[in-house]
Amino acid sequence: MKCARCKRKAEIELKYSGEFLCDNCFIELFEKRVRKNIRTNRLLKSTDKTAVALSGGKDSAVVLYILNNLHKNAPKSELVAISIDQGIEKYQKKSLNAAKAVCKKLGIEQYVYSFKKELGLTLDEIVERSKKIENPAPACSYCGVLRRKLLNDKAKELGITKLATGHNLNDEIQTGLMNFIRGDLDRIARMGAIVGVIKDEGFIPRIKPLRECPEDDVKIYAELKKIEFETSKCPYSEEAFRGTIREVIDRIEEKHPGSKFQLLKATDQLIPILRSKAKVGKIGRCRICGDLTSGSLCKVCQIKRELDLG
Ligand code: SF4
Ligand SMILES: [Zn+2]
Ligand SMILES: [Zn+2]
Repeated sequence: MKCARCKRKAEIELKYSGEFLCDNCFIELFEKRVRKNIRTNRLLKSTDKTAVALSGGKDSAVVLYILNNLHKNAPKSELVAISIDQGIEKYQKKSLNAAKAVCKKLGIEQYVYSFKKELGLTLDEIVERSKKIENPAPACSYCGVLRRKLLNDKAKELGITKLATGHNLNDEIQTGLMNFIRGDLDRIARMGAIVGVIKDEGFIPRIKPLRECPEDDVKIYAELKKIEFETSKCPYSEEAFRGTIREVIDRIEEKHPGSKFQLLKATDQLIPILRSKAKVGKIGRCRICGDLTSGSLCKVCQIKRELDLG
């Protein structure tokens, strides 16, 4: 089979478009897609001090790799990596080692913070403690909320102006569908390539350079570029609602290639409509920590109170 673009030997089949591409044309297509997202959604400025939330998985490693190349052409920009050690036995060590290796290879400064040191408990310990309360949340709910908060606080301390995450197309449409099924339209209104409907000085804007890249493409790109990443899965990942949603969307994509792109497109058309109706006026401040929240306590303070964390 010949490459649809340069007619050299094709190595990669893109089922969503029906195209066969050679390695070079695939790399070009992938990077073009990321650059277009950054440009059209104004994710970065040439003077940004950006931190990549680096887990050691393929997605954040690819973000770091691509932003590092862009950063070389923007002398006033800065780029660092922040990794969070949630304390998930077996899995965490491997992923943190991979994160360290990719930073070393690219010559990027890495900051590592742990749940244990910052919150007093590892995620494993938090999950154990949650079993003692009525209706405990899934591990991912605790992990996501606490990790996001720690990343934001540390980024603020480091003077970071943008926090880049590895969310890809699959993650984004899974989140959209989960929010839709839960009837949480306010959360859909807060989605997008750059996160946050409301500007607040305590909140570092989060950007998603890979938001338009299918997960399989991210993996192929990482392999072609020989970017080191950890392949083992977090032991808590399958317990979540997200796992079911992932299976459903993957099955639809298999039968109807291109559906994932269509779902993202539909979500993006919905976001501005929902934003205009979002309950912006109802946002207030958490009465404990002062962060923005729609209730009287933010999610982090709710978790800390429920589980008696320091
Ligand atoms: S799968 Fe869940 S528990 Fe594991 S790292 Fe991701 S959010 Fe955290
Ligand atoms: Zn080609
Ligand atoms: Zn709070």
